[in-house]
Amino acid sequence: MKKLLGALCAATMLTAPAFAQDYPERQITMVVPFAAGGPTDTVARLVAEKMSGDLGQQIVVENVGGAGGTLGAGQVAKADPDGYTVLLHHIGMATAATLYRNLAYDTPNAFEYVGLVTEVPMVIVARKDFEPTDFKGFIDYVKANGDSLTLANAGIGAASHLCGMLLMQALETPLVTVPYKGTGPAMTDLLGGQTDIMCDQTTNTTQQIKGGTIKAYAVTTPERLDLFPDLPTAEESGLAGFEVSIWHGIYTPKGTPAEVNERLSKSLQTALADEGVAKAMADLGTAPSSAEDAMPAALKAKLESEIARWKPVIEAAGVYAD
Ligand code: ASP
Repeated sequence: MKKLLGALCAATMLTAPAFAQDYPERQITMVVPFAAGGPTDTVARLVAEKMSGDLGQQIVVENVGGAGGTLGAGQVAKADPDGYTVLLHHIGMATAATLYRNLAYDTPNAFEYVGLVTEVPMVIVARKDFEPTDFKGFIDYVKANGDSLTLANAGIGAASHLCGMLLMQALETPLVTVPYKGTGPAMTDLLGGQTDIMCDQTTNTTQQIKGGTIKAYAVTTPERLDLFPDLPTAEESGLAGFEVSIWHGIYTPKGTPAEVNERLSKSLQTALADEGVAKAMADLGTAPSSAEDAMPAALKAKLESEIARWKPVIEAAGVYAD
């Protein structure tokens, strides 16, 4: 028996480090739980390209949109914990834990953690020919015409859904919400005038605002953004407590070896330290997370604290999905 135990221990000691040393030996799939062309997709493709260079293996982005990001997260929760399937998700990972009554996975326990990627402000935007010229006018117009206005989002639990909920609560006005598989396709409809209003990350709205193809009304951060100094914050315009910014993190399925998560985290830190990545993010109104935040413990702590932060807010609003 002693001999058998000794042999087993020796085998474990040999295989675990060997596995970590050789990792990765083939292509990695990064699941983005929203449609291509949206803000989560944009962030994922930016870091995936640099991480691929560092890892010496291609990271291929797979878009699995739908149900506010829970379909893609569910797919990764069920994947083999071998380091070849990762998930790049956002704040929705925390809010879905309370919003969905029958999630197919147990949020904090179904995953391992790689690290935080970036935190992105949001902007309240509308189609180009939306009548109000400033945010005060927007508030009055939406209050008066709510039942005939559409608000695009990426499904329950998405960042755009959260921000939309805050907006409807603050204005005490329900709007007709239209869910998409991501705000990439929602932006296409906003540009085409098929939908009226959206609240989305700067990573999906900056170019369109600067190009004048959509109208921007307010930012959701406590301070104005350097990128759009003329845009007021929602809070300064009288919507007290209206504050939301969208953090993104990378996860692996539960049981993925710690050495693999550490290797992915190191590669994430390298990607985030890259000048080109920082510049691309700055142009989109955001910044890379620090090396310390791009570590497994920081993402785990963030997810746990955000589940706790949003639980009472969602319970008070009484909004749930099945
Ligand atoms: N920004 C989207 C959201 O509302 C998701 C996406 O398409 O990236 O959560």
